[in-house]
Amino acid sequence: MYMPVVVYSEDDAVLNHGKELAALGSRALILTGRFSAKNCGALDDTIKVLDGYGITYHIFNRVEENPSTHTVVQAAEEGRNEKADFVIGIGGGSPLDAAKAAAFLMCCGEIKEELLYQCGNDRHLPLALIPTTCGTGSEVTAVSVLTVPELKTKKSISHRIFGDIALVDGKYLKRMPVQILRNTALDALTHMIESRINTGADDFSRMYSDSGMRIWSRNMKYLESGTTEKKVLAELMNASTMGGMAIAQDGTGIPHGLSYSLTYKLQIPHGKAVGYFTAGYLAAADESDRRTVLDILGFSSVEQFQEYYLRMYGKTDVPHEILEQAVDELWKNKKKLSTAPFDVDKEKLEEIAFYTIMHS
Ligand code: NAP
Ligand code: FE
Repeated sequence: MYMPVVVYSEDDAVLNHGKELAALGSRALILTGRFSAKNCGALDDTIKVLDGYGITYHIFNRVEENPSTHTVVQAAEEGRNEKADFVIGIGGGSPLDAAKAAAFLMCCGEIKEELLYQCGNDRHLPLALIPTTCGTGSEVTAVSVLTVPELKTKKSISHRIFGDIALVDGKYLKRMPVQILRNTALDALTHMIESRINTGADDFSRMYSDSGMRIWSRNMKYLESGTTEKKVLAELMNASTMGGMAIAQDGTGIPHGLSYSLTYKLQIPHGKAVGYFTAGYLAAADESDRRTVLDILGFSSVEQFQEYYLRMYGKTDVPHEILEQAVDELWKNKKKLSTAPFDVDKEKLEEIAFYTIMHS
């Protein structure tokens, strides 16, 4: 079990732990998306704290959804020109992943895109991560998933970058449109399921995946209409962070592996794209694993889970050829396939990929 991130999950986490944030350096590069970090209050909290401790900062607010390697290089170059000595990522998984990759590049002699995918050391500038979605758990994983335009897909960088501190506060979800809340919460659920049904699962990862699924399940009704209830938002955030802690131990599996083509080629949001394959993965799993997950979540069968997915997320038309390409690509990734604790031949992988088409 390795979880080196200091996590504070509480009301006003940023304001309460300003001293630890300020101790990371003397000039911050802050990475955010266009609007949400400002609108949800997380950026204002951060600036208030930095100003209070006399820490200067430079804001790079151009991180797009599914950020590209090019964006990360631009952010790292700006950070270096601005002489930043630590990095703060504020946002959903996109700005957090971009912040990890930028913190890595800023520690390299020269800032070059290809270094992201070359093996070598994983040194990075001190890094604080402040999530504003309840999905990726990126604040506690070592993974940074970037879009590589040259490869026309998304790919995790070759380096394991854990933040130094994660400041987690459900209040940032308060004004989130319900569709984003649903999509990101589904991503968190898929992390817990893929970690639970995984060759690498052990008592420690199950501690996070099972607790996270219980928390998720008791709050799932609020995903129907959205909510501003403080306790619910805090719990959805905790489920997401626990999902991250779970996959930080054993990694995501087949549904994530299949989902990247849907996001890249059809612009389907990450959570919804992964969720498209979750029922298929459950159906393919061994009975005892399937039963455990369904029981924790309160579903009587995979079919009932799939009905829930279709009701909440709608029917998505995915062309057959895109699913076939997703299968072909993942079939080459033996490492990802080996996370499934059941036999996966090409036919089984196709059954998982085509489950939603066959059951909607
Ligand atoms: P995201 O791509 O970071 O953001 C999605 C949308 O939500 C953006 O429009 C963003 O607006 C908005 N948003 C963010 N916080 C908000 C808030 N509090 N209120 C209202 N709107 C808000 O979404 P995400 O699903 O969290 O991240 C997805 C990315 O994470 C993908 O690239 C995925 O591959 C990656 N991922 C990483 C890991 C990991 O372990 N590192 C795990 C799973 C997924 P702005 O653009 O204005 O900010
Ligand atoms: Fe994910």
